[in-house]
Amino acid sequence: FAELEQTDPEIASIVLAELDRQRSGLQLIASENLTSPAVLATLGSTLSNKYAEGYPGHRYYGGCAEVDKAENLAIERAKALFGAEHANVQPHSGASANLAVYAAFAQPGDPILAMSLPHGGHLTHGSRVSFSGKWFTPTPYHVDKRTELIDYDEVRDLALATRPKIIVAGATAYPRLIDFAAFRSIADEVDAILWVDAAHFIGLVAGKAIPSPVPYADVVSATTHKVLRGPRGGMLLCRAEHARAIDKAIFPFSQGGPLMHSIAGKAVAFKEAATPAYQVYASNVTANAATLAKSLEAHGMRAVSGGTDTHLALIDLRAVGVTGADAERRCDAARITLNKNAIPYDPAPPMVASGIRVGSAALTTQGFDGADMERVGGLVARAVRADSATEAGQRELASVQADVTDLVSAKPAYPR
Ligand code: PLP
Repeated sequence: FAELEQTDPEIASIVLAELDRQRSGLQLIASENLTSPAVLATLGSTLSNKYAEGYPGHRYYGGCAEVDKAENLAIERAKALFGAEHANVQPHSGASANLAVYAAFAQPGDPILAMSLPHGGHLTHGSRVSFSGKWFTPTPYHVDKRTELIDYDEVRDLALATRPKIIVAGATAYPRLIDFAAFRSIADEVDAILWVDAAHFIGLVAGKAIPSPVPYADVVSATTHKVLRGPRGGMLLCRAEHARAIDKAIFPFSQGGPLMHSIAGKAVAFKEAATPAYQVYASNVTANAATLAKSLEAHGMRAVSGGTDTHLALIDLRAVGVTGADAERRCDAARITLNKNAIPYDPAPPMVASGIRVGSAALTTQGFDGADMERVGGLVARAVRADSATEAGQRELASVQADVTDLVSAKPAYPR
């Protein structure tokens, strides 16, 4: 780091300031985590220098002996961790992994059935502003208005009506378990590929805290940096029969040289995730998310679908009369980082939103327990209600920030 400070003090100070931000606040973004020093060391290594287009043993560059070993370790560990027949660890991100799934199984214009974006789906599941909506013909399915759970009857009806090439199960803001067996049976009925986008919850699967989609899906895409706590990146798991199509869809179809430092970082994260300690972590993540959701409910907010089975909760703020956007801003001012989020059937536009999304992955990494999460719920509730346009509101936000500092000092991120 001394060299960075000498070469580029501006960037060095940004790196330090970001570390300080992560240490000094409550990180409740559901898609983030605090990756280990071992993963960070791998990311900052000379593996970043190496070009290795192709796959282990079949590269378009010389000098790949060492990175071949790293990629093989990542592949073998991923297969063992998830019980998958085939793993591709090269996707640069979750979105790149998803692009490859389309490339492997669909042609431009083909019908796709996926979760509606405002109901929790991801941009790459058919949004018009993404390649997925521009190049394919998506039909969105929804959650039931009353239960706020995926409406499997609607999924089946839409599948029968549109005969999709691919059915996508998986979301970015859905707090509940997904019934993979139900999706499998619908996919079989219409002869569709079943793709589970497990970007958010693959870490819980690795830690055996929730059921695995791998036995049900033709292909599973994932990110490696959320609950899984690895480097930023993507991953694909599939049945052996699809291995060739998936590998070709990544390279040469949609990517060039793989990021070998990131792939090695994924190998480290898979090793960490295969330990009993990580299983304890994953079950603490779900317990902590449930406690946080309950605490927010006790403070007058509503957990969409009545709670959570995973690492995240979606909180409807309409009862407290605060928009998601205001809540995000107020929490930010008290060093509580979370995001505004549309709730199902949201009457507000997406940039305003009626809800917030909270996740427990990062705080659980810091060692937060149930009692801590109850306090976190209390602090979020105070910040959300503090109108920063008033002096009293500003005083309250300063007081919440002081309590946040107390809480994170007891269980810091990246302890010194
Ligand atoms: N799929 C889902 C369900 C996601 O939630 C996300 C990101 O949050 C992605 C894909 C995309 O991952 P990335 O941001 O790494 O491209």
